[in-house]
Amino acid sequence: MIAEVALNVPLRSTFDYLLPAAQETAVSPGMRVIVPFGRRQLTGIVVGLKERSALPPERLKVIRRIPRQETVFSDELFRFTRWLAEYYVCGWGEVLNAALPCGLGARYRVVYRLGPSAAEGGALERLSAAMRGFLAAHPSWSEAQWRRSAQTPEEREWLARESDPGGAVEAVYEFDGAPPLREEKWLRLRPGAGRPDERRRDKPTRKAQVLQLLRDDGEVSLTQLGALMPSPNRIVNALAAEGHVEVFTRPTEIQAEAPELPPAEPFHTLTPDQEPVVEAIRGALGEGVYRPFLLEGVTGSGKTEVYLHAVREALRLGRTALVLVPEIALTAEILRRFRSRFGRDVAVLHSAMDDRRRLAEWMRARRGEAKVVIGARSAVFAPLANLGLLIVDEEHDGSYKQDETPRYHARDAALVRARENGAVVVLGTATPSMESLHNVTVGKLERLALPNRVANRALPEVELIDLRTARRRKGSALFSMDLVDALGETLRQGQQAILFLNRRGFAQLIRCEGCGEAILCPNCSLSLVYHRAAERLRCHHCEYAAPVPPVCPACGAAELAEFGLGTERIEQEVAKLFPTARILRMDSDSLRRRGALERMIAGIRRRDYDVIIGTQILAKGHDFPHITLVAAVLADVALNLPDFRAAERTFQILTQMAGRAGRGDHPGTVMIQTYKPDHHALVYVRDHNTARFAEVELAIREATQTPPFTHQVMIWVSSTAPDRAERLARQLNRRARAERAEGVAVLGPAEAPIRKVNRRFRWMVLLRSTSVARMRRVLTRVLDDPEFKVNHPDRVVADVDPQSLL
Ligand code: ADP
Ligand code: ZN
Repeated sequence: MIAEVALNVPLRSTFDYLLPAAQETAVSPGMRVIVPFGRRQLTGIVVGLKERSALPPERLKVIRRIPRQETVFSDELFRFTRWLAEYYVCGWGEVLNAALPCGLGARYRVVYRLGPSAAEGGALERLSAAMRGFLAAHPSWSEAQWRRSAQTPEEREWLARESDPGGAVEAVYEFDGAPPLREEKWLRLRPGAGRPDERRRDKPTRKAQVLQLLRDDGEVSLTQLGALMPSPNRIVNALAAEGHVEVFTRPTEIQAEAPELPPAEPFHTLTPDQEPVVEAIRGALGEGVYRPFLLEGVTGSGKTEVYLHAVREALRLGRTALVLVPEIALTAEILRRFRSRFGRDVAVLHSAMDDRRRLAEWMRARRGEAKVVIGARSAVFAPLANLGLLIVDEEHDGSYKQDETPRYHARDAALVRARENGAVVVLGTATPSMESLHNVTVGKLERLALPNRVANRALPEVELIDLRTARRRKGSALFSMDLVDALGETLRQGQQAILFLNRRGFAQLIRCEGCGEAILCPNCSLSLVYHRAAERLRCHHCEYAAPVPPVCPACGAAELAEFGLGTERIEQEVAKLFPTARILRMDSDSLRRRGALERMIAGIRRRDYDVIIGTQILAKGHDFPHITLVAAVLADVALNLPDFRAAERTFQILTQMAGRAGRGDHPGTVMIQTYKPDHHALVYVRDHNTARFAEVELAIREATQTPPFTHQVMIWVSSTAPDRAERLARQLNRRARAERAEGVAVLGPAEAPIRKVNRRFRWMVLLRSTSVARMRRVLTRVLDDPEFKVNHPDRVVADVDPQSLL
């Protein structure tokens, strides 16, 4: 027998291996195996078994090892991942790798623990007292540990028998290498413990506090004490030495995300707007067939409440639900709302969790302990069985597209997965993507709408400020007089304001007034951004950072000057204008530290800040009740990008931004400063007219034959040598044209707008067609041509339905 194995390598084929003799029956599709590949050993997934291979038998290698395991992929995930590999023209193994919580390469081992029904059936009674002691001392254990401790052959056998389905023991994954569970120090009172000798009587000493805590709670962990007092170790050691307490260790449970549940909240009674929307989704769920909806609801219209009701209905029907949010920044808030309704039924999956916790949550979903999964992009692979409902919140968000292999779009993937499962999909947004609107027109999506805010709160008044003519305050070039006045008024009334600019740092670039040269990143063809707080120049595309040079590196003149603005500059300006204002800057620089986002959000809600300055992180989902002024300091930043989606993105981000205003009882004001006040992206933000914006934008897309009226495949060619990149791009372009595929246009080659990134020079060839299948045929034939099976240092990468054209 031969196993077909998918590996996480950038090749679009699977690989054949011989099964080790005597283990022919031990392998089935979905299992992990370790195989020799070149000089390495790789973990792969068995995707099929067959009698013969296209390769001659002498060239087939043998599977090295079959770890003891549960199968990791269901049939459904198998089909789904293969579909994605085909659509996005990448290796099946590459998709499978993305679908596992810690990747294919992560080394797991199987450990055992007592299952929920361990006490029934008398399995434990068949063990000696010694082995029962072993079980009491080990929350989980490996097969080797068991073998070492078991005294009789029957006891050694016991584990294998009881770990079969229905037995007393369950097998779970653990990381290889890491200790199965961490140990933590705990303490409890010694019987007959007296009072510690107290010298100062006016105030309880730390020791007395600890003893009181132990009297109240029985047992306390050192970690818990650490949250209450400094250096708890010293106090505990002293108490132990005096004979008052006993210290013992206890294994830390694998902590799932946020183990404490938020207080339970009841479901809101639906508003008259929400009622028919939920009714439509409920009806679709009842049918048990694929039904995709676009839920278009203005910001604050109660979309999340609709999701909650829909999920409740899916669970009632015995199915599971998947909720995707575009960014990790959003999971905390939506997770809280879901946990307050569904408690431990909810698992969370995203890339910022540590591996251990992510694996634990993934296992909860896989075992059916969690029936709702909330997560970012990669949660679209959540191992939920019997999936009945998929929700994609903020469906228009570009971060659903992964910008490295596999380059899938999680929204589109969710639609495919739903179709396979006969599930209902709800794509929710205030600002639908042009793709989704087009899909409504052609009948691929059904439109549902929430046109009003909950409780009839007004949408904020939006004002465009023309920077070409606006009066400025003397010495303040960034803010128009109107904005300064509005900001002052907001502060006087004790309300909060948001200032938005989609660029972090202090100055966009540093340029020499002498020779006119800007300081560029040595790795990328981009100017370095000046960060004043860190006193450094940083590249926003690679990791490069350097101190600010005293003189121009090009001509040596001491005439360096700052140009363009960033969030730090806004911060400085506001501090100058309003010295008493409490300012918070929120961008990826200030959010680097773990937990910073949660702390900042809590601070904003507590009104610790008056002015919040930030990048688009601010625009997303948060519900802050005291924001009455929102201003975009320079809307043109995103509008000027050479990308056909620039207008759409600008419209979306400004509408989202505006949606932060007036969510409480005070109405909000929004000000947008721009040099292009006539641009349709800005005019229809002002008018809250999403429909009209879409009409204009779609007309432009149709005239220019850009998505959603066509599909695109971008082929990126890059090399460390500029001439090689260009030559390869030209060759590839010629080769693609030679296919003469009907209905497929080959555009280019052209140098990329950012011509160098990370020391690689970049060129691009664009395919355009109404049919992805046709382009895929051209693409696979080109990529399979030995001429383009290029290796380091040149690279060819294809991106189907690209989101980034820079
Ligand atoms: P969206 O997701 O569309 O921005 P939310 O679901 O966050 O809107 O709703 C906005 C606010 O209205 C939230 O504070 C939410 O708790 C409240 N809300 C939503 N639906 C209802 C309802 N049916 N009854 C009362 N309050 C609601
Ligand atoms: Zn760089």
